[in-house]
Amino acid sequence: MSIKVVKFGGSSLADADRFRRVAEIIKADPERRYAVPSAPGKRFSDDIKITDMLYQCYNLAKDPSTKEEFETCYNSICARFLGIIADLGLDFDISGELSYIKNAILGRAGRDFAASRGEYLSGLILAKFIGYDFIDAENVILFKENGTFDAEKTHEILSAELARHENAIIPGFYGLMPNGTVKTFSRGGSDITGSIVARAAGADLYENWTDVSGFMMADPRIIKNPRAIETVTYRELRELSYMGATVLHEDAIFPVRIAGIPINIRNTMRPGDDGTMIVASAPDYDTKHIITGVAGRRGFSVVTVEDDLMNSQIGYGRRMLEVFEENGIAFEHMPTGIDTMSVIVATADIEPIKDKIISSLNRTLKPDSVTVDDGLALVAVVGRGMVKAKGTAARVFSAVSNAGVNIRMIDQGSSELNIILGVEERDFEDTLKAIYSEFVND
Ligand code: ASP
Repeated sequence: MSIKVVKFGGSSLADADRFRRVAEIIKADPERRYAVPSAPGKRFSDDIKITDMLYQCYNLAKDPSTKEEFETCYNSICARFLGIIADLGLDFDISGELSYIKNAILGRAGRDFAASRGEYLSGLILAKFIGYDFIDAENVILFKENGTFDAEKTHEILSAELARHENAIIPGFYGLMPNGTVKTFSRGGSDITGSIVARAAGADLYENWTDVSGFMMADPRIIKNPRAIETVTYRELRELSYMGATVLHEDAIFPVRIAGIPINIRNTMRPGDDGTMIVASAPDYDTKHIITGVAGRRGFSVVTVEDDLMNSQIGYGRRMLEVFEENGIAFEHMPTGIDTMSVIVATADIEPIKDKIISSLNRTLKPDSVTVDDGLALVAVVGRGMVKAKGTAARVFSAVSNAGVNIRMIDQGSSELNIILGVEERDFEDTLKAIYSEFVND
């Protein structure tokens, strides 16, 4: 029988009803042997996530003058967990845990320890509710002295531990430092735990259950009811990272990717939807719309250097990029002309040191001119189906020009997996709409 590791996000565990849904989903498939829960998230839009409340409690505990606010904050965390237990009709006493955690936070057990208790309690309750074993992440998810995740040691210990359990709950988001203190991943890190568990379990599939039916072909704030992406490769997903969507933590890809385990993004509120499959490779003929998705972002600047006979000067590009490197600025693209070279960077990165960059470029390259233009938006049209389809670029450009948009920059990666357009920020939405409706018209 194959093995599935399932991870549930905070919105999937926000209250007792959702715990019930989660239990139903896990129980519906005996292959779902290991589950990784997040801490309860928001029940409604103005609600506060348990993790945020824990950070708040930790801050309030620092100062004796905010003792009362601390009590109120901690009591409301207790009330959420006790409410879930009561609504589930569980006979489960967590009062000992709750007072231990309270004292530990007051005793300065650490910010990460405080934050991690949401997942810890959520895991205990879920394990009790569905009758799965509980494996505390602090025994199996390990960090190195320098604070980075210890992939190899974790893999060894976690695989051995999982082999001892037919079914288990492993709380997400945290693990242990060599000195015995709890450490968390960055926010949204339960996705990473799920991926690590999937690799250690030798799973056939990592199901990541959240509150959307997978990745959409375009940003739903701009395109009304965009289609969900059925299958996307890891590489396409990286190209679509402009999407800015927080559907999946970026670091969650690595553990399953090296093990060749696909990820299936699923919607807890709509378990009948197939969601999106993220895979290592997929045939290019199965993309219905040629493109897999279109994504973009505003807020880029173009730094252009002009220099007569630039093309014959060896090492020009390297020297130019060194200026950015020395100033700690990553670049997005680098379109060139015969005597011009442009570097596209995030405006927020360059803004504070713009004058320094301009003078360094002048000093290093002695060019004819250096200019910085702000207000650029980048749009990435991504699709493995574009590789062999002739005329895709022509369709993209004519759709955009029919929408009355002037294209300021074009960049097609030689993998033909993407076409990047630079347009004025004011044309950003029209560009996305034009491209989406050109390729998705059914
Ligand atoms: N609860 C943590 C957070 O809110 C981790 C997670 O949900 O993945 O960031």
